[in-house]
This record gives sequence, structure tokens and C-alpha cells, in this order.
Amino acid sequence: MKEVRTRFAPSPTGFHHIGNFRTAIYAWLQARRWGGKFIVRVDDTDRERLVPGSVRYLIEMLQWLGIDVDEGPGPQELKEMGEWWPEAPMWGGQAGPYAQSQRKDIYKKYADELITKGYAYRCDCSAEMLAAEREEQSARKAPLGYSGRCRERNVSSDAKHVVRFKIPDNISMTLNDAVRGEIHWDNPSLRDTVLLKSDGFPTYHLASVVDDHLMKITHVMRGEEWLATTPIHLMLYEAFGWDPPIFCHLSQVLGRDGKKLAKRHGAEALTVWRDAGYLPEAVVNYSVLIGWSPGEGEEQEVFSKEELISKFSLERLNRAGGVFDIEKLLWMNGVYIRALSTQRFTELARPLIEQAGLNFDLAKWEVLAPHLQERTKLLSDLPGMVDFLFKNEIERDLGAMLGKGVDEAAAIRILELATNAVASLPEFEPKSLEEALQAVVAELGLKAGPVYGVLRIAITGKKVSPPLFESMAALGREVTLSRFRETLALLRGGSL
Ligand code: GLU
Repeated sequence: MKEVRTRFAPSPTGFHHIGNFRTAIYAWLQARRWGGKFIVRVDDTDRERLVPGSVRYLIEMLQWLGIDVDEGPGPQELKEMGEWWPEAPMWGGQAGPYAQSQRKDIYKKYADELITKGYAYRCDCSAEMLAAEREEQSARKAPLGYSGRCRERNVSSDAKHVVRFKIPDNISMTLNDAVRGEIHWDNPSLRDTVLLKSDGFPTYHLASVVDDHLMKITHVMRGEEWLATTPIHLMLYEAFGWDPPIFCHLSQVLGRDGKKLAKRHGAEALTVWRDAGYLPEAVVNYSVLIGWSPGEGEEQEVFSKEELISKFSLERLNRAGGVFDIEKLLWMNGVYIRALSTQRFTELARPLIEQAGLNFDLAKWEVLAPHLQERTKLLSDLPGMVDFLFKNEIERDLGAMLGKGVDEAAAIRILELATNAVASLPEFEPKSLEEALQAVVAELGLKAGPVYGVLRIAITGKKVSPPLFESMAALGREVTLSRFRETLALLRGGSL
């Protein structure tokens, strides 16, 4: 069997969201599934839409996601694009360069070949002429597009010109798409499209077909928005006398409102997700499931990278658009956070806590870490959950203590009794704290919830916090008692 070779061919026109990276992930899975090669190619022929920094972004995000690449732009190519940085990967490869802007000679050669064979021609129509042509067509209510004026004019190569593809009038074509099945085109009204622009840059059609062929791509996996251009690509393969690859047009990723996925659906640049504490494993797992399922009736949703590779198949890609649901991703992120080792959890959490200006203390953290890991869905929520642990002064929402049988006098009483109960405990640890405070609840004749609510606000400042007894144990006896004292002073001073 031929070696499977897939590619991710992004245009560096901005900071792509998960919808684009999902295409890369599928192509990578297909390559890994069959022991093939995964290639990154930079489709940077549209010079007007280039966004500096987006190649580096694309590469860094692939690395963050854990998508390993076999061939792609090497250091020299990145330098020429102005996108090199010291830790850039050393990819390169036999089929390079992998940036289309550095393959102009190749496209020229193949455009010339098509001219020689009579499949393409030079056209020197000026922008004004083309505009006038369009105006005239629209006045006649005729379909817009190039008339073919230069088809037989034999324009000299010295003139400023573009190269156009000669598209036959009556064509019908069939594509056997790996995802969408058989697709027919009957006379798709295509006009003689430009293959090579007057500045020597190719258009997407020529560059894509030539590169996919020369790079020996076996499966072209791309978004379904490219389906409409596939007839042109098929005709180009035929004109060159090349076998076309297998095409897999992937369904769109949609937002929850059924519209094309965008930032407003939570699909930010991946750097935003990374910095918010999404784990790359969760992002990969979740995004694969947006348009693929392992099999009829299969309930499994959490897959290791190895499982995804061994189970991935083109046949199980969905034809219908998939909905991106950030809540589901958040849930899955929680699943992955729970599965981390405590050490890894700490390594990931610590910088976020320190960046929030808090004084990280490992001993205190370790008491709470397992409980935090249990309930965290997003690592960036952690600083707000544990700030009480690492701060000397906390702010308290005293009003939240009241209600459910607790008034100001009761709150004072709760804190007095709790102080007595825990001050002289032989061991200041969760189990004995729980027993001592249960006795306080019984003595007061109140419900546990409101009593613990008062204590929680006293030590953390908040209504919602990590588990109470563990939080007290993490703070230690001295700090716990001083926070009780401070709260009592506030209550007695009439702060409520
Ligand atoms: N450069 C195209 C894009 O930005 C690639 C389309 C393809 O994969 O052929 O999506």
C-alpha cells in the first residue's frame, strides 16, 4: 500500500480557532492511523491577507496540542517568512520548501507546461477591460465571469499577463468524496479562472494541486467550503495527467445557534484557551468528537491520544455539521484535570496562582490540592478559589452569613463556640475539625449548612469555597483562629 501522506495547509491570515485546528487534527490522525506522514504547508500566496505572527502561532499551537509533524517549513523557510523564533521546530523535509511563497518557480514551470499543452493561456486584459466586461454582462443579466477573450490571442510572455485555465464548456464530473460520497457536477458554470497572477504568485487552485501532487499527498482533508472549487482541481489533475488524491471534505463546525463557528461562541484563538487553563488533551479529544464518532451506539467520549489514533477512520466522519459546545469542552477539561497526577496538577496550577500575585505555599496547597482537582473545570479558576489561602488579608461578604436561622447574634455565637472547639484540638486536621464542629452544630441546635456557611465566610471570605475542614486545616490553627477573631471583631463592631 502507498504511504499515507496528509497535510494541513493553513493560510496565515490570522489567529485560527479550533475549527481550523480540527482539520489539522483529523489529517494528523489519518496519517498516524496508517503509519504515514503528516505535513504542514503554509499556503501564503494571498499576500494581501497575510497577518504577521500567524505562522508562528499556527506552529506553536500544533505543538501545544501535541500534534507532531513529519515535514514542514524548516528554520530557513521560517526566516524568509519573517516567522522564525529561537525555539522554532527544525522540520524541513524532502518535498520542501513548504511555504508556497517560496515555490514560485515551480508554479511558473507547471503553468508553462499547461500553456504548452493547450490547457492554459496568457491573458493581458486590463482591470478596466474586465470591469467593463462584467458591467456589460450584468446589464444583459448574463452570468458574470471572464469571456475567454484571450483564449486564441497568443499573448506574448513579455506582456504583463496572468495565466488562465481553459475550462471546457460542457463538462460533467464525478467525485467520490471519502466523507460525502459521490458528488456530480453537470456543467458547473465555471469561467476561465486565473492560475498564475501577474506578480508571479499562483492562485490557490494551481498551488494547491501542484503541491499536493509533488508532496505526494494521498488524502486531501479540508473544509467543505472548498468543495465548490474541487471541479477545477479535478480538471487540473486531468490536464497534468496526474492521479488525483482522495478528497475528504469535512463538515463545518457550527456554534450552538447553528451559525458558522466564531469567537462569540467561545472559539477564541487557542492561546486564549491555553492561558485560561484548558488542557491540550481535552481540546484534542473534544474537537475530534465534533465531527467524528467511534461507531454506532458507542458511548465512550474520553479517548487517549493512542485510542484516537487506533480508532480513527474516515468512514466515521459525519456528513452533517457538528456543533461546538463550550460547556461540553469545559466538562471534558474537568475530566482531564481529574486524571492528572497531583504533581502535574501542581505544576500547571502554580504559575497561574503566582501570576495572580499570590504567594504560593506548597505545604498549604498540598492539603487542598486533591479537593481542588476534584472540582476544577478550568485551571484559571484556581487563583480565585484559593486566594484566601495565600493572602494575609481577606475581604468578607458578611451579609452572606445571614438567613436560614442565622442572625447577627447567632453568627457571633457560632464563631465563639467554634473558636473554643478548635483552639485546643490536639490535632488540627480535617477529621478532628469535622467532629469538633459537628458538636458545635448540635449544641446550637441549628442546621449544619448555615453554621458552616458562617465559618466559611470567616476564613475564606466567600460563600463558595473548597471543603471547609480541609480549608481550615490548610490555613492552620493560628490563621484560622485569627480569622475567626477578625470576623468577630467586625460583627461586634457592627460591620454587618
Ligand atoms: N489554504 C487553504 C485554507 O486556508 C487550504 C485549503 C486546502 O486544504 O486545500 O484553508
